[in-house]
Amino acid sequence: MTKRAVFLDRDGTLNEDAGYPGNFGKITIYPGSFEAVRGLNEAGLLAIVVSNQSGVGRGFFGEADVEVLHREMGAAFASRGARIDAFYFCPHFEGGADPRYAVACDCRKPRPGLALRAAADFGLDLARSYMIGDKPDDIVFARNIGATPVLVLTGQGRASRMRVRTLDPVHVASGVLSAARWIIRRERRAR
Ligand SMILES: [Mg+2]
Ligand SMILES: [Zn+2]
Repeated sequence: MTKRAVFLDRDGTLNEDAGYPGNFGKITIYPGSFEAVRGLNEAGLLAIVVSNQSGVGRGFFGEADVEVLHREMGAAFASRGARIDAFYFCPHFEGGADPRYAVACDCRKPRPGLALRAAADFGLDLARSYMIGDKPDDIVFARNIGATPVLVLTGQGRASRMRVRTLDPVHVASGVLSAARWIIRRERRAR
């Protein structure tokens, strides 16, 4: 049986969007996020974070800092009984000064690279997977990988709502917990 994932944007979806946080101390996780991830775990859906972290390419912090932050964030979820199965991030910034990162990569959302990597690592059925995010790029990313998009109104979601109207209709949820509940209900009906 192939696995399905719920891809989760990080900043503005799981935690407050606070510019370019380089360490976990700057991260404020939304209260509903733990229960959302727990619910996805129980529903048998993988919870996989996919995040653009151009702060690396902009020289604000290093890839190792992002990895430490993600380890600590994963531990914070684990301590509340919620398992984030993996974190994937794009460190690139095309307009940056650091030649290691100033590339037109395939992994900056809405490009599909992060999901393709996860699909290869976990054996995912992307067409039966989901993406929850707060920006138009998250919705386009979902379309690009053939997954079902859900827009949340946290982070930049309210501003994004007008802009995604020009895309195909998407489900809109107040936040990540109600998004997860919508997905879980939809999965139950499909069985
Ligand atoms: Mg976001
Ligand atoms: Zn990239």
